[in-house]
Amino acid sequence: MANIYNNDKDFLIIKMSREEFLSIGGLSRCDGCNTPMDGGYYIAVLNYAYCEKDFHSWYQRAERFPEDASFERRNFNRMCQIMNIHSLN
Ligand SMILES: [Zn+2]
Repeated sequence: MANIYNNDKDFLIIKMSREEFLSIGGLSRCDGCNTPMDGGYYIAVLNYAYCEKDFHSWYQRAERFPEDASFERRNFNRMCQIMNIHSLN
């Protein structure tokens, strides 16, 4: 089930299953390596879905910029709505 992935860098991220990616009309393929995913991470600030491996390599070097916040929030809220997640903030 889709849930918010809490992280130390305060990115807005949703962990989703393959079925959930398929249900939103995606192919459940990673936007990094283009491999079919069993599940992955929806990264609101990129508007990308990444597999486990690409997610962690992105996260390692990712930096959060204030100017991305409204774009990130908008993507995140939209996905929360589709996935029926109640965002806490
Ligand atoms: Zn990947």
